[in-house]
Amino acid sequence: MAHENIPYKIYLNESEMPEAWYNLRADMKNKPAPLLNPATHEKMKAEELEQVFCRELVEQELNDTDAFIEIPKEIRDFYKMYRPSPLVRAYCLEKKLQTPAKIYYKFEGNNTSGSHKLNSAIAQAYYAKKQGLKGVTTETGAGQWGTALSMACSYFELDCKVFMVKCSYEQKPFRREVMRTYGASVTPSPSMETNVGRRINELHPGTTGSLGCAISEAVEVAVGTPGYRYVLGSVLNQVLLHQSVIGLEAKAACDKYGIKPDMIIGCAGGGSNLGGLIAPFMGEKLRGERDYEFIAVEPASCPSLTRGVYAYDFCDTGMVCPLAKMYTLGSDFIPSANHAGGLRYHGMSSILSQLYDDGFMKARSVAQTDVFEAAEQFARVEGILPAPESSHAIRVAIDEALKCKQTGEEKTILFGLTGTGYFDLVAYEKFHNGEMSDYIPTDEELAKFRANLPKIDQK
Ligand SMILES: *Cc1c(COP(=O)(O)O)cnc(C)c1O
Repeated sequence: MAHENIPYKIYLNESEMPEAWYNLRADMKNKPAPLLNPATHEKMKAEELEQVFCRELVEQELNDTDAFIEIPKEIRDFYKMYRPSPLVRAYCLEKKLQTPAKIYYKFEGNNTSGSHKLNSAIAQAYYAKKQGLKGVTTETGAGQWGTALSMACSYFELDCKVFMVKCSYEQKPFRREVMRTYGASVTPSPSMETNVGRRINELHPGTTGSLGCAISEAVEVAVGTPGYRYVLGSVLNQVLLHQSVIGLEAKAACDKYGIKPDMIIGCAGGGSNLGGLIAPFMGEKLRGERDYEFIAVEPASCPSLTRGVYAYDFCDTGMVCPLAKMYTLGSDFIPSANHAGGLRYHGMSSILSQLYDDGFMKARSVAQTDVFEAAEQFARVEGILPAPESSHAIRVAIDEALKCKQTGEEKTILFGLTGTGYFDLVAYEKFHNGEMSDYIPTDEELAKFRANLPKIDQK
């Protein structure tokens, strides 16, 4: 094979680094639907959102028109600590698969939080600090977001209160200690510290919690404590905006070396890494400049895009947050207890939901044993132990590369490797012991959760 004049891992120089985030909404003809007030069903006003979220983040949330929003210098300075993230050619994986496809991945696991979430955490902490707030509250499921936010808050000397889904709090004590290392306080959710938590504990004694419930608790504390606001690690428009740094870097690296991805693949929980990775490429597609195939990969046990409905729904269990129009399974949906791989949120980013509904993006769901098989295959040849979430994207990248082997097509595949799996070894252990099963909800079960969608005029 001829040697290619491309680095094995592509980094960027300072002059090539993005100085503005890209706001995909500016190029969308059908804008994502606005957030609604849960009580009145009217469009949420900025003043209402500012009770819950930081002022500048509300501006970003509502901004559907500016294509570029400057990344403040303080945030770019922080990014220098762990960015650019490398765009890596998976030579050894290609060889192992004997595929003519070229496989690239953008690796976001090179920081202590072990995921892309730090990209938005630092931005949200910055705006909170700039507003003169004392601290922020949030929820965390598996713990990556809580860790990322703890790191960001300690950098700007903000207080950080994390409500951690109880089963993760118990199963992942090491994540909890990382958060405490950065000075955050971590409370298992549902707790007895909030009205919502007490109510849920009473209704469902012994519950191990859910993201939707932890969100309600975090919002209640933020709204009830002077000098505090709530921050969220995915789903929201502002988070996808911050995560566009992933796609902008990936695109700059591709353009620099003439790499043209045919297919871009990412795992989808709330949609932030995928929305960020595809943003500038999707922009080209929306403007009619270039075509790409985009694939969102979700767990078969939490299939919001592939089996959900596109409707206004609650973002949280306690129904205190604004309503968002999204592909959703219903806000009471909780994936089966044997689901190990993250990506367990019941809904999907409004931006990605709209793009999917308009046919600009595809979605696929995968079973968790197949995901862990791909994770192991990747770990053995690429030298990174991937997060279970990221491994959903690996699964589909491998499947597509194997299709190319059948057809002889030399496609270029780019996928997002969102993080590392060192805190997920209990899940790996289950897989290795043959104790992992694939519980896929039935249509009847999904219909039951769907029946609880808010009764509003679902346009
Ligand atoms: C949180 C997380 C995800 C999923 O969240 P999105 O908002 O859908 O990106 C994926 N991978 C890792 C490693 C995560 O920590």
